[in-house]
Amino acid sequence: MAGDDAGKINQIRGLEDLKCVAGARQAEASVAFDLSQRRKQAAAGVPAEEQGAGVAAQIALARRESPNRGSRLLGLARALTGMPRTFAAFRSGLLNEWRVTLIVKDTICLTPENRAGVDEELAADTGALDGIGDKAIIAAVRAAAYRRDPASVAKRAARAVTERTVSLRPAPDTMTYLTALLPVAQGVAAFAALSREADTARSAGDDRSRGQVMADTLVERATGIPGGVTGVEIQLVMTDRALLQADGEPARLPGYGTIPAASARNLALSHAASHELSLWVRRLYTAPGAGELVAMDSTARLFPPNLKRFLQVRDETCRTPYCDAPIRHHDHILGWAGGGKTTAGNGQGLCEACNHAKEAPGWNARPVPGPAHTVATTTPTGHTYHSTAPPLPGAPLAGGAQSCSSQKRRLTLARATP
Ligand SMILES: [Zn+2]
Repeated sequence: MAGDDAGKINQIRGLEDLKCVAGARQAEASVAFDLSQRRKQAAAGVPAEEQGAGVAAQIALARRESPNRGSRLLGLARALTGMPRTFAAFRSGLLNEWRVTLIVKDTICLTPENRAGVDEELAADTGALDGIGDKAIIAAVRAAAYRRDPASVAKRAARAVTERTVSLRPAPDTMTYLTALLPVAQGVAAFAALSREADTARSAGDDRSRGQVMADTLVERATGIPGGVTGVEIQLVMTDRALLQADGEPARLPGYGTIPAASARNLALSHAASHELSLWVRRLYTAPGAGELVAMDSTARLFPPNLKRFLQVRDETCRTPYCDAPIRHHDHILGWAGGGKTTAGNGQGLCEACNHAKEAPGWNARPVPGPAHTVATTTPTGHTYHSTAPPLPGAPLAGGAQSCSSQKRRLTLARATP
């Protein structure tokens, strides 16, 4: 009936408004939490420049978001306190969290006075931005911001340069996207150099396509080696059944993710057969049925290379819940100073930001005994969050039936310069 459907639409709109109310309340609570934590840290003698450490990380855990997103959400909340009309529009449902983020993003480089001026001009609480699209909102915000502070455009450009980076993400069919974010001049120059190389090769009779020559040249120049792969270690984690008995269990390529068993076999066996490459085979055993790599110990204070490699393979990415940033630190879960040992059980891989957050006052972590490697992290407010190492190829799923009685073996194949 039409009446029922009208009711459904009313319900959808009502829930949308509720999400905005909830988002605005979360922002208010985040700002209040930040202030209160900073006050407590100041009272505990934390130097001014270190106050606020770990605050965004706690908000992220509570919101089931990555630490990176947690700090952006806290930044958004703090900026909104200086933009009362935008904040009011958020509370009333006229602007949702995403659209509020668009407004804050383009005003963050302004002084508080100029940001307040933009807020006043946009008058979002009057419904002035209601019904217009995201692009139109961005255009309105930028126009208002540039009018007040034309130099901010230059500042933004200077800041953008500092964000240059290279990243890797999976593409279909066991391919990968290697992406570089570069200042325009460098990007154009790099592309032109690859194009030139392709033209030269093809005019000399090379039968590869232009794209193929460009891709091969990029790899060769970045790795410094013709053919591009020797000398750089590629680790592959797969079960012995997948390698030797054509089992279908997918493998894991650290730094990339899951790949089909057949691709892993090709990678492992083709390079094993090739003469100029030597193949390292490391056998890592698991406790029967447990699906965990067996621990290695060291008496040293720092993690030795083998143990680091082990943590890298076991943890894959930063161990903080919801964070999947690359591992940058091999961390003692229980600190060395507090009697924590240099073992795989007491070790975890963390990204730079999470390692820093963990060092803030009031944070505690401990390994939790169990079938899969688990870390319990307790934040200054007394909330505890658990992180379990990702399953390895062939490992039983956590909580699933563990009927396998034979010892599971895994191979880590690593190629290195002979
Ligand atoms: Zn992290």
